[in-house]
Amino acid sequence: MENFVYLMGSKSSKECFVIDPAWNIQAIEDAATADGMTITGCLITHYHPDHCGGHLWGHDIEGVAELVGRKPVPVYVQAEELEGVQKITGLSRSDFKVCRGGDVIDIGASKVTLIHTPGHTPGSQCFLCNGALVSGDTLFLSGCGRVDLPGGNSEQLHESLATKLAKLPGETIVYPGHRYDPKNSASVDELLKTNPYLNAKSLAEWQRLFRN
Ligand SMILES: [Zn+2]
Repeated sequence: MENFVYLMGSKSSKECFVIDPAWNIQAIEDAATADGMTITGCLITHYHPDHCGGHLWGHDIEGVAELVGRKPVPVYVQAEELEGVQKITGLSRSDFKVCRGGDVIDIGASKVTLIHTPGHTPGSQCFLCNGALVSGDTLFLSGCGRVDLPGGNSEQLHESLATKLAKLPGETIVYPGHRYDPKNSASVDELLKTNPYLNAKSLAEWQRLFRN
């Protein structure tokens, strides 16, 4: 499993947002404190419990609900993901800020662009800030997200990868949602050479990768 949880923010204002707070909320808060940062918001890539907390395979996973319970911060989700995240976390509608692809969020002096990348789930989103892309379960370093879970859609995921993430500047560094590879990050240029899911030229070619 080995999820990555990221803090993204502004050194000058010492504010940060947590991306996918789950598993150990105290450790996430401690990491922010150790960097002298204050958590002022929360960004959710998608509704699966390993990313936002809830029940999974008999485990109770801490997540967004515990973070917001300790300190009320806004939780940003794509419109298509609101229902799923609300159900999984048990939070109320007023805890959420509903956003769309292309929206830009200011965290102090840093600007985060939200990229709606449906496919793994309908409201999956990636976050682009200062040349860094946090890709959730849409793109891993040597693969991409599953499309066989509820709400998964292979045509949409192929389109999200081919028309959105593959078109980012080559020097963009991708930070995925899970540690499935020895490395923790890689550039888009590198992934276009090494990750066939990002580089598939057609839907048919892309779908063949799943069958192999
Ligand atoms: Zn997932």
